[in-house]
Amino acid sequence: MIEQTVREYESLLCDIRHQIHEHPELGLEEIKTSELVAQKLTEWGYQVHRGMAKTGVIGTLKVGDGKKTLGIRADMDALPIHEASGKPWSSKIPNRMHACGHDGHTTMLLGAAKYLAETRNFNGTLHLIFQPAEEMINGGEMMVQEGLFEQFPCDAIFAMHNMPGFPTGQFLFQPGAFMASMDQYQVVVHGCGGHGAMPSKAIDPVMVASYITTALQSIVSRNVDPLEAAVITVGSIIAGDAANVIPDNAVMKLSVRSLSRETRELLLKRIPALIKAQAESFGATADVNHINGTPVLINDEAMTQFAWQVAKQQFGEERAVYGAKPLMGSEDFSFMLDENPNGCYLIVGNGEKGEGSCMVHNPGYDFNDKCLVPGSAYWGALTEAYLK
Ligand SMILES: [Zn+2]
Ligand SMILES: [Zn+2]
Repeated sequence: MIEQTVREYESLLCDIRHQIHEHPELGLEEIKTSELVAQKLTEWGYQVHRGMAKTGVIGTLKVGDGKKTLGIRADMDALPIHEASGKPWSSKIPNRMHACGHDGHTTMLLGAAKYLAETRNFNGTLHLIFQPAEEMINGGEMMVQEGLFEQFPCDAIFAMHNMPGFPTGQFLFQPGAFMASMDQYQVVVHGCGGHGAMPSKAIDPVMVASYITTALQSIVSRNVDPLEAAVITVGSIIAGDAANVIPDNAVMKLSVRSLSRETRELLLKRIPALIKAQAESFGATADVNHINGTPVLINDEAMTQFAWQVAKQQFGEERAVYGAKPLMGSEDFSFMLDENPNGCYLIVGNGEKGEGSCMVHNPGYDFNDKCLVPGSAYWGALTEAYLK
């Protein structure tokens, strides 16, 4: 089994993971991380392309004369969080931390890279895609826009994320919508400031923002199909600072999620329309700015079946779960799947109670090293199965 072969260099993989973990780098600043990735890939005989989306790295390995091409993607960026995991390999940089396990994702793909270069038990072209800036900056979208799939054509693409709360090394698969779309808005409600004792001489943007907040929930309850998932969160309202002053304006920040392209389209149409009309109904106006958006992540059904079969064969039924619940978080691999829909994004369990169960984006989180061998072995098995 591949797992046994990869286990022979488990300590090397742990070293690599800890090295990346100690030096976390934010999106588009993955200088040291991408250097390490490129150096390892070169050492193992990959053709290495650097500089896509600033710090992206693509390692290509061609074996035999097979025409099929496969892309596997890992993310490399860290978060602006101050680490409190207490691990010996904790971040050495204040307020920077690998709190989403991208250090582990990068290392699992490197583990597969080493295995596949040494065994060469496939026929075709393999592209290992190390992307920057998954968190908030959409590095995946940047790579697609910079011609990732024109320069490195992939017949199918895959990616994996760890998830605390599931058994260590268990693999989870879900066809169709798996991760939500995420859109953000900044809204400025323009009223007319005045004395708190003379509201009739003013247009109160605080009251308008409050009505908008309430009215927005009617989109979820009255416009969205009740069988579809949607979330509209007003996470911030900032206006005024004195009890007896009506301010000129109010600034609101919204985060919006959905699990289908149709629902997202409806939300993106209804939200600005409702905000503007609601403001107008009070004699105010509103500027509505869509800040950034990530599409719904949709897994191809046949590719999800295929990816699940690989896990079943490699690790047995118990460790390969088909039919996971979709998650309302977002993931910029969706940009790659929108461009190249023949693919699947899957989850590897980071651990239940105790080890590995601390949620991602928490200062106490750490990627579970016990996932490194199964994760690397999985990518090895998937490559051998797809590029037969
Ligand atoms: Zn994250
Ligand atoms: Zn992540």
